[in-house]
Amino acid sequence: MLTGIRLVSEAAELAARRHNGQRRKGRGEEPYINHLAEVANMLSEVTNGEDAELVAAGWLHDTIEDSETTNDELADRFGLRVAGLVVECTDDMSLPKSERRQKQIEDAPKQSPGAKLIKIADKVSNIRARIFANPSAEQREELADYAAWAEQVVAGCRGGNATLDALFDEAVANARRAP
Ligand code: ZN
Repeated sequence: MLTGIRLVSEAAELAARRHNGQRRKGRGEEPYINHLAEVANMLSEVTNGEDAELVAAGWLHDTIEDSETTNDELADRFGLRVAGLVVECTDDMSLPKSERRQKQIEDAPKQSPGAKLIKIADKVSNIRARIFANPSAEQREELADYAAWAEQVVAGCRGGNATLDALFDEAVANARRAP
């Protein structure tokens, strides 16, 4: 089984391939890989690089939801913990958006410590991407709506890493201050 830098490097490479051609929502419609790099690097930074599996799962956290990737494949290549973390971060896309959002709020407190950290980092990245210098009314509304929902999810995820909690609070404060 891969460990350390090899594990993280393989995860980044697979994520780049699987999300190839996808763009993220929000400012600049950046390539999707930028979101994954931001989340993985945030997780590495706040844990001082001490949990390679967590950082690998950060790279991979949207692969099951948004690409042709399965739990079994991830378990084979990256081990059960990494695969399990990604599964915890995967929404049931057969449900309508409002139900998926409600489920995230309800499930947050039951998630593993690692999945809670990934969820928070994901929300930080997504809030940041929704802050525009000159937003349209629709973009302003989308940011307020997303941040309010993210706060409810993160309320059930807090307490595992004070630095990450602070980054989330800062992102929400910036969203509130945004034009
Ligand atoms: Zn994500």
